[in-house]
Amino acid sequence: MRVLLASRNAKKLAELRRILAPALPELEVVGLDDVTPYPEVPESGATFADNALIKAREGFQQTGLPTVADDSGLTVDALNGMPGVLSARWAGAHGDDEANLRLVLDQLGDVPDERLGAAFACAVAYVYEAGEIVTDGRMTGRLVRQPRGSNGFGYDPIFVPDGYEQTSAELEPSDKDEISHRGRALRALAEQLAAPSPTINPTRPAR
Ligand code: IMP
Repeated sequence: MRVLLASRNAKKLAELRRILAPALPELEVVGLDDVTPYPEVPESGATFADNALIKAREGFQQTGLPTVADDSGLTVDALNGMPGVLSARWAGAHGDDEANLRLVLDQLGDVPDERLGAAFACAVAYVYEAGEIVTDGRMTGRLVRQPRGSNGFGYDPIFVPDGYEQTSAELEPSDKDEISHRGRALRALAEQLAAPSPTINPTRPAR
């Protein structure tokens, strides 16, 4: 069976294949570059789940393929959960990782170190003929003021996961996958898909 991952991110595609393959060996995961192009919808939702559903519904509607989409971000306790769904464009331009990270650190200038708790959160949505499934994952930790490490992306250089001394940009990618918000949400989806009758969210019928 072919499943669309509504993303052009090659790393996400590889991660999804890695995580879904053991549970569902018959699945072929394709990306947006492998299907007829369609206009991307704005991520206008108030929550990660809303945004993941917007992207997965659009992919299913446009291609007819069962579609997986994710949305993720950093939630900082001292910023009341922000940047949240605005993580990718916190400093204005979409995807300017360095500016986003600097702005968060500036905003936390007066906050004491013991109140630098934060988490990465991810929602994964799967939309197919029978309905919709949404799963979540979180990776809790704390922020540091000096960026460290060159693996990963986004806010990884200033995020230290609970139980670790290294930032998530200093971890090996496979070690990060084990504990990451995205890894957890994707594994939860894989488990549901491998179950004899997946838990379908009846309040969110496929369109
Ligand atoms: P998206 O889910 O790919 O749209 O990512 C949203 C934004 O959240 C990214 O641009 C990053 O700034 C941030 N983000 C999400 N996941 C991670 C992560 O694992 N590490 C670092 N930053 C992340």
